[in-house]
Amino acid sequence: MPMLKKMAVANSLSAKTSIKPVYTLFSGTELVEMNSLIGKRISLQFTGDINCIKCGRKTKKSFGQGFCYPCFVSAPETEECVIRPELCRAHEGVARDMAFARENCLIDQVVYLAVSGGLKVGVTRIHQVPTRWIDQGASWAIVLLTAPNRHSAGVVEVELKKSFADKTKWQSMLKGKDEFEGDLLQEKQRALALVEEASLIHNPADNSIYQIEYPVLQYPEKIKSSNLDKDPLFSGTLMGIRGQYLILEGGVVLNVRSYAGYNVELSF
Ligand SMILES: [Zn+2]
Repeated sequence: MPMLKKMAVANSLSAKTSIKPVYTLFSGTELVEMNSLIGKRISLQFTGDINCIKCGRKTKKSFGQGFCYPCFVSAPETEECVIRPELCRAHEGVARDMAFARENCLIDQVVYLAVSGGLKVGVTRIHQVPTRWIDQGASWAIVLLTAPNRHSAGVVEVELKKSFADKTKWQSMLKGKDEFEGDLLQEKQRALALVEEASLIHNPADNSIYQIEYPVLQYPEKIKSSNLDKDPLFSGTLMGIRGQYLILEGGVVLNVRSYAGYNVELSF
């Protein structure tokens, strides 16, 4: 079954902090290296079928980016703490699946600042660095600190959200406009001062600034978001890829991640 999944990313450079993502799209039957299609016409046709990315069952509607309803309300991948780390209770021994929690919540978590459209704060599991930032379409990122579990990282994030945004400015991001003129290191110092003021526990991190350069021929001036439920055909000349978005000529974009589990035919 040709089921869409979020694109896999690899760095074409060997440097740790200097990243040029290479995207691979798995359409269920084949792996397609998408960077090589930039500048060419592509089409993605939604067949009308959706399968749960967890259990494979057919579902009329997708919940939480690719799950059937039963999985959405029971799978550890969709537990509330994925979106709101401060609600994680794995450190108290409470989770939908403790084995999953031991690998994802009770490991070091990174609190970071990233510039994706604008400056934002976020939390991610340590093994998701730098994938998480690439998925968000960030141009720059810096680690503020590490925390020993998801809950404690979430508490820091809640504190920092009072002074920093926590959402990706995806429209600006897709226009190639990163609305940030400041200095990431200075912002890091400002953030750490706030963490200290709130007496929150944290482990220091190094000051490496990650820089990510996306394969985009030309950014559009206007963005038109595609909805495969309403218009099952997404086609045109691929102008670039940023985050999990395919950007077509004219500014038509598709957030691949939102359509995980959708059965599609990719042609080029
Ligand atoms: Zn399912």
